[in-house]
Order: sequence, then structure tokens, then C-alpha cells
Amino acid sequence: MASRGDFHTHSTASDGVKTPTELVDLAAGQGVVYHALTDHDSTEGIVEARRAAARHPGYTLIPGVEMGTDIAGAEVHMLGLYLYPEDPELQQALAKLREGRVGRGEGIVRKLREMHIMIEWERVQQIAGEASVGRPHIAQALVEAGYVSKVAEAFDKWIGRNGPAYVERDKMTPAESVQFIVQRGGLACIAHPADLPNLDALLPELKAAGMAAMEVYYKDYAPSVVQMLKQHADRNELLALGGSDYHGIFGNDEKLPGNIPLPDSSIERLLELAATLPNRQLAH
Ligand SMILES: [Zn+2]
Ligand SMILES: [Zn+2]
Repeated sequence: MASRGDFHTHSTASDGVKTPTELVDLAAGQGVVYHALTDHDSTEGIVEARRAAARHPGYTLIPGVEMGTDIAGAEVHMLGLYLYPEDPELQQALAKLREGRVGRGEGIVRKLREMHIMIEWERVQQIAGEASVGRPHIAQALVEAGYVSKVAEAFDKWIGRNGPAYVERDKMTPAESVQFIVQRGGLACIAHPADLPNLDALLPELKAAGMAAMEVYYKDYAPSVVQMLKQHADRNELLALGGSDYHGIFGNDEKLPGNIPLPDSSIERLLELAATLPNRQLAH
């Protein structure tokens, strides 16, 4: 069952195997007319995807991103649709999230090295041993390398809360990501929510934060799961969206773009919502 819409796909700008151009060509070839590119914590593929999109009459590329966020005991992925790479505040926030992916500690070491304070990440890990790396381990590496004489001095000079090499905690909460997406003029949609704990509490909280949609018609969700999620969507007045989450890495069984039972009515409702978003003037 193919749909004219697919609002969740990945390119080589994150962990997909198709370049943005190849992905757009594939989606358009599959008959997808409304297609969101939603790489993990990155909009790097959008500019290339736009160029490819221009070669397909009637096809519309929706710029987006999939943000990694945390709740206790689980990771929540939040799709931000209609987010534009030209937005510098968006880029700043995404850079921070990418830093979080590699780990806050590594981010701090990278910043130090950019300031020509050449400590090695491997050495910091050795100092930490079995422990998860914290700023004190970095401080010890700085002492060892002779850049400071005491751990406290490292905090004062570089890695304290207001220091030039400080890196924020790793991730946003889901509600923070929703607020962020809405503030940047986009539309927030929770990704693959079926396995998340306590949807009865989470969805109303995110709706209150400004989330407009949730993935219901996702990749290979069984009809019973789709039905369960659709009830959640209706109860919370969330638009029931969907996507293939196509990466091109899962072999022959992988659903191709558009190969989801997303009804046309969902696409039409999304387009109505999109028409009210403040970012429209950025669109090309
Ligand atoms: Zn995801
Ligand atoms: Zn994804």
C-alpha cells in the first residue's frame, strides 16, 4: 500500500546510505509527492535534496530533522518538520545535540583542542577507567599535561559552567524539543512512539508543549499497533502522521519511501497546518 506522503526518511547526512539526491530520486520514483528528509540532529542534506527536488515536477520536499531526546529510561525521537537550514538558531541547537551524541566529554576535549589545548580523548578515558567520563577526568588530564597545576584551576579557566570549553548536558527533554521546534516555526511530531512507556501521560504533556502530530503509520507497525496509536492520536487531538524511516541499511525487507498505509486525509490535514506556520517565507 503506497502513500503519496512520507514524513520520515534518512540520507547520508546522518545514518542513511542514499545521498540526499538519491533519496529524493527514489522517493519521487516511488510516487511520493510530499516527502520529508529528517536526518538525525542535522539538516545538512536539505540543500542538496532541494536541488534534486527541482528536477521532479509536482514533488514537494519538506525540510525536517529528527531530534534525539531523553526521558527517564528511554530515548524519545522528535521529528521537526518545516525547519529550514538557513535558521542560525536551529543550526546552533543541532550542533549542540550532535556534540551530545558523541558525548559531552568528547565535546569538551574537542573545544579545548580548538583552543590549542592538546589533551587526548583516549587519555581522558584511561583516567576515567570504568567510570563514565566526567569533567574531573578532563581536569586531571589537563593537570597531567601541564596546562594547569590543579584540578580546580581547570574548572576556573576552561571547563566550569561559564568556561569557554564548557558543553551543556547532552540532550533536551521531549517537551523542550517540542517547544524548540515550535519556536523555530516548525511542526513537532513524535517518532515511532509504540514502544515508549506511559504514552497516556507523555502525549498530553507534549500536546500541551505544542506538539501537533504523532507517527501512527510507521514503517512496519502491525495493524493492531496502528489502531492503538490512532486512538491515542484522536484522544489527544494529534494529527496521525507516518513515515517509512527509510535508511537503506536494512536489506530487502526494508519499506521503501511511501510504502506505508498513510491516508490522504492525513496529508491534507498536514498541508493545512503547514499553511499556518510562520516559516513559509523561507521555503523555496
Ligand atoms: Zn528514530
Ligand atoms: Zn528515523
